[in-house]
Amino acid sequence: MKYPLKVIMIIALMQACQTNTEYIIDPAFEEYVSIFELEAFNRDVDVNVSALAINIEFASLEPRNLLGQCLTYSNESRTITIDKEIWSVLDDYEKEYLMFHELGHCVLGKDHFNGSNQNGICLSIMQDGSGSCSVIYNASNRNELLNELFNL
Ligand SMILES: [Zn+2]
Repeated sequence: MKYPLKVIMIIALMQACQTNTEYIIDPAFEEYVSIFELEAFNRDVDVNVSALAINIEFASLEPRNLLGQCLTYSNESRTITIDKEIWSVLDDYEKEYLMFHELGHCVLGKDHFNGSNQNGICLSIMQDGSGSCSVIYNASNRNELLNELFNL
């Protein structure tokens, strides 16, 4: 008696998920998406990621040095994919940086920007990863880079 009941409950749950949410944000990224929305809100930028037609999911990306990517489709839906193996070895700042970079493309519509200061430090989270400037992202410059990301 117990077993069939469980099966029925699982099926019901799956149907609920399918009808209520067409687009899925992997739980691993929810924290960073929330922080992104909060940082936008604090800068008077209106961003509601979960209201968009957006998937944020893990995949194995090729080539191997690709950390994440944002794909946009003709129906205006978007998918951010993050390399699962790389994500697992990043610290909190690195995870935030990677997610904010991809959200910069997919949600804010930003292109790459490789500007640097006189010390060669990248002025934007939206640098293209080619190494033309040095990436530093920590408590000392986070606020400045987020201001730049949200066009302040
Ligand atoms: Zn990029």
